Amino acid sequence: MNNYDLIVIGGGAAGMIAAIKAGRDGKNVLLLEKLSKTGSKLKATGGGRCNLTNTLSNEDFMARFGRNGRFMRDALELFDHHSLQQFFSEIGVATHAPDGFRIFPVGHSSQTILDALEEELKHLHVRVLCSQKVTEILHDGCKVSGLKTEQQSFFSPNIIIATGGLGYPMLGAEGDGYTLASALGHTTTELFPAMMPLLTKENWTDNCRADTLPKVELRVALKKYHKLHATGDLIFTKNGIRGPVVLDFAREITPLLKELGEVPIIAKLTKGINEDALLQLFKNSAAQELHVSIKKSLLPILPASVIDELCKLVGVDSTMKFSKIEGKARAELIKIVCATPLTITGHDGFKMAMITRGGISLKETNPQTMQSKLIQGLYFCGEVMDIDGPCGGYNLQWSFSSGYLAGSLL
Ligand SMILES: Cc1cc2nc3c(=O)[nH]c(=O)nc-3n(C[C@H](O)[C@H](O)[C@H](O)COP(=O)(O)OP(=O)(O)OC[C@H]3O[C@@H](n4cnc5c(N)ncnc54)[C@H](O)[C@@H]3O)c2cc1C
Repeated sequence: MNNYDLIVIGGGAAGMIAAIKAGRDGKNVLLLEKLSKTGSKLKATGGGRCNLTNTLSNEDFMARFGRNGRFMRDALELFDHHSLQQFFSEIGVATHAPDGFRIFPVGHSSQTILDALEEELKHLHVRVLCSQKVTEILHDGCKVSGLKTEQQSFFSPNIIIATGGLGYPMLGAEGDGYTLASALGHTTTELFPAMMPLLTKENWTDNCRADTLPKVELRVALKKYHKLHATGDLIFTKNGIRGPVVLDFAREITPLLKELGEVPIIAKLTKGINEDALLQLFKNSAAQELHVSIKKSLLPILPASVIDELCKLVGVDSTMKFSKIEGKARAELIKIVCATPLTITGHDGFKMAMITRGGISLKETNPQTMQSKLIQGLYFCGEVMDIDGPCGGYNLQWSFSSGYLAGSLL
């Protein structure tokens, strides 16, 4: 009753697909989940719409993960976005890419994804036990033999750790996998929250909360780190910035915040309009209308609230004509509109982080199998590993690909 070919710890995206793959291969599988139900984080993904993956080639996909992307090669070759779509189609969920890039279930509901995975686990007779927190993995220093939950012991020569990271702890992932793995000699790299809103020193953002600014580029304003940037929609908040561009940028910023305390950045809010083009825009609008104000000239490219705040910062009245302000103020205005400086001072930590940067060291795991190089029969998959990607279906694809490979028990 308590002996299995495989025990999977964690009923998230990675753990569920690992259990399904092993079940399909005829293995007797136990899936243990500490919450009262499986897939809590999966259900919350994409604002309940579940951005499963995207249409990038494997090469381009890996490149977006930066330093550790190449570790994914074998997992992606086995189970890429085509395989993932095929897998869900076989278990009754059609998928599509409405914007040609991000792939969602056609019904745009993460619940359909979760229901299909749970149904398939049932169909394969995978035993799923919820409210079972794993506290210890049993081993002899060379290979695993089983594990203990808070209630009982189970035995198996194969154990997959699929316990997720540290973000959104209310959805189950609280870092247990790092503790379990370190008791078996594995190293965890330094952990940082990623994909969350950022706090700024500037408080003028509070007055600009109403609008979403499209195609904003954020870039670190430090010579050593100036290559760190992200582009996308931005929303100002009471005490900082949020939105897709900030989610992507945050994974670069949190390690720097730890090192430097605060991080100066430049926000390009003007959809690519540079200083020369902006000067021309002022001249053109003045030529068309006799008494056109700075605010009216800038309205095609910026919301009124942002224009007012930027003008205030350089001491200019936004209702004045551009030609009526003195040369120094003109230069300052053009500069601040084209390259708006902000200072990132903090964030709300793992509580609001969709992703964890860092995890179980990749050096100690075989990328061809996801098996530990230290302990036989121990496997890892999903967010618990030292791999994190940007917004856009990257992290779920990684969880599914690595889970599928780990569940293959190669
Ligand atoms: C709000 C939000 C939205 C997101 N949206 C997207 C998106 O649209 N697209 C995308 O690609 N990514 C998205 N992500 C990221 C993505 O959800 C995760 O990267 C992915 O779900 C990680 O899967 P996982 O299986 O590795 O971990 P998890 O989904 O975190 O699953 C781990 C499971 O292990 C269980 N567990 C932990 N410890 C133990 C233990 N000791 N014993 C037993 N069980 C344990 C946990 O309860 C949990 O259920 C989002 C994340 C959040 C928070």
